[in-house]
Amino acid sequence: MPTAAGEMRDEIRAVLFRESTIMSRLDEMASQISSDYAGKDLTVLAVLNGSLMFGADLLRRLEMPLRLDCLSVSSYHGASTTGVVKFNQLHLPDVHGRHVLILDDILDSGHTLHAIRDKLQNETSPLSIKICVLLRKDVPRQRELEADYVGFDIANEFVVGYGLDYMERFRNLPYIGVVSEEAIVKYAPKFA
Ligand code: 5GP
Ligand code: MG
Repeated sequence: MPTAAGEMRDEIRAVLFRESTIMSRLDEMASQISSDYAGKDLTVLAVLNGSLMFGADLLRRLEMPLRLDCLSVSSYHGASTTGVVKFNQLHLPDVHGRHVLILDDILDSGHTLHAIRDKLQNETSPLSIKICVLLRKDVPRQRELEADYVGFDIANEFVVGYGLDYMERFRNLPYIGVVSEEAIVKYAPKFA
């Protein structure tokens, strides 16, 4: 009988980053971040749900004390961006006077991180804001935004796994891969 992980694997047409590759890269990113923020009071702001695995693994590698807050936003439907960023909570974490490192799974058009950074700057006046993403897509940004820390650069493909979903599936894959065409169609939203 096929396992659940096996069933998911059948729907991935290519593995881009194996678990061990991701872990090695996180070691490097963590040592860079630890040295950049040494002696500073850091607040990590993880953008849910996509950065859950990335955040959990990266934060356990950071050496300094830090505060963790989460932010829930949505801007994506299926495999294409809408450009409209919705904040799913009433209040932003209070990061006034703090060094903030925003963690997200992937930088694509830039809409999401731009909206978050703008809102934080306007509403809570942090001391500094930097951006850390696991993946950065090779596409023209629709918003002016640079990431300060990047795990991997990728081509313009829709990827899943290690926190990233397609229609809320595949987040629990331990690696990052590309969904097959059949699976894209199989799980596509159905409009009446
Ligand atoms: P942006 O606002 O930069 O266009 O998109 C950022 C958000 O869109 C990410 O946080 C992520 O949730 C979603 N996203 C963008 N590209 C991909 C992708 O290739 N795969 C998945 N699963 N989500 C993506
Ligand atoms: Mg996201």
